[in-house]
Amino acid sequence: MQDIKSYAMNTDNTTFGLEKKHYRCTLLGHRYVETKKINLHFSEYECKICKTQATNDSRGNKIVLTTELKEINETLFYLNLKKQFLSRFYFHKKER
Ligand SMILES: [Zn+2]
Repeated sequence: MQDIKSYAMNTDNTTFGLEKKHYRCTLLGHRYVETKKINLHFSEYECKICKTQATNDSRGNKIVLTTELKEINETLFYLNLKKQFLSRFYFHKKER
């Protein structure tokens, strides 16, 4: 705690603080938390430390979430909803 305090007192430059966070991520890797589940295979993530957004590719590797990928995910998300709805509807129909 003492270290954080003296660090905060020694710097009044917030940009430097952000760089420090990014540096930490480069060094230790991002600490992603799942922010949105797209479907069984895809999710969106956000780094707890530097707020970098990411998603995963078909092989499960984390990749930076670009606007284009975000749109694809959005489409996949709604297609998945539609599929779920249709399969549920179909299933109930079959049961009767
Ligand atoms: Zn990060």
